[in-house]
Amino acid sequence: MQYPKIHFKKLLYSLAILVLPAFILLHSCSDDNNVFVVPGEDENYTVHFIDVGQGDAIFIETPVKNLLVDGGYRNSGVVEYLVALDIEYIDLVIGTHPHADHIQGLIGVFHEFEVGEVIDPGVTHTTNTFNEYLSTIDLYDIPFTVGRKGMEWELSENAHMLLLHPTDPSEYHLNNASIVAHVTLGEVTVLLAGDAEENAENQMLNEPELLASDILKVGHHGSNTSSQMAFLEAIDPDISVIQCGEDNPYGHPHNPVIERLNAIDTTIYRTDLHGNIVITIKEGEEYEVHIHQ
Ligand SMILES: [Zn+2]
Repeated sequence: MQYPKIHFKKLLYSLAILVLPAFILLHSCSDDNNVFVVPGEDENYTVHFIDVGQGDAIFIETPVKNLLVDGGYRNSGVVEYLVALDIEYIDLVIGTHPHADHIQGLIGVFHEFEVGEVIDPGVTHTTNTFNEYLSTIDLYDIPFTVGRKGMEWELSENAHMLLLHPTDPSEYHLNNASIVAHVTLGEVTVLLAGDAEENAENQMLNEPELLASDILKVGHHGSNTSSQMAFLEAIDPDISVIQCGEDNPYGHPHNPVIERLNAIDTTIYRTDLHGNIVITIKEGEEYEVHIHQ
């Protein structure tokens, strides 16, 4: 009967020797963590709406990961722009849909930079550009994800991306197959609408609470096929950026879209008028718009 008691005391003693230093160590660590700063609260971010003429190219920098959405046409200047930023690695590239004014410039991006992952709606298109885009992704063995509504990516401590579209894209209407990304950068939100038209907007309006954003990349270069009033009201952006080329043959942006944007009292920036539009977000909340012509 005595033996288990002696053994128990020895065991307690041994445990105390083992556990006490660990307890002290953990306690001192938790003291360090009691500094009253939420990690990531003061992160800085930059959103670049790159002037690629007629087409889209948006580059977002966070303290951890960066993201490129579309690359304009071939030789659009997106590669040079990213080289000038000293970018060597791109974590995420989104090809919103297979039209050349979005993906052709990405081919040069894949040749120039190491890319962590490509996200694409997974619809096919029978053009040489689309084949070359796919074969270049293959050539460099870049991980490929078919993007669908509801998918999420962490970009940094306080930054993440949620896809709002597509759910069930069709190769017969590529604009409405567009990936639409809602990016949260601290307290600031950005909606990148691709070339989504009314049909896609109506699907997203089924959950209007997901659309609210501070900054909007206006859908389809300001075409009247897109940006219906209900969609703009649900987003209610402070800033709206239209990416289109000077004197483009489509007449983008269309006047009715400008009128609807004015009606919701948003400040409009246009790459055809303002060149590169760079928005810096400081300490997760304050943001400034810089124009680089
Ligand atoms: Zn387009």
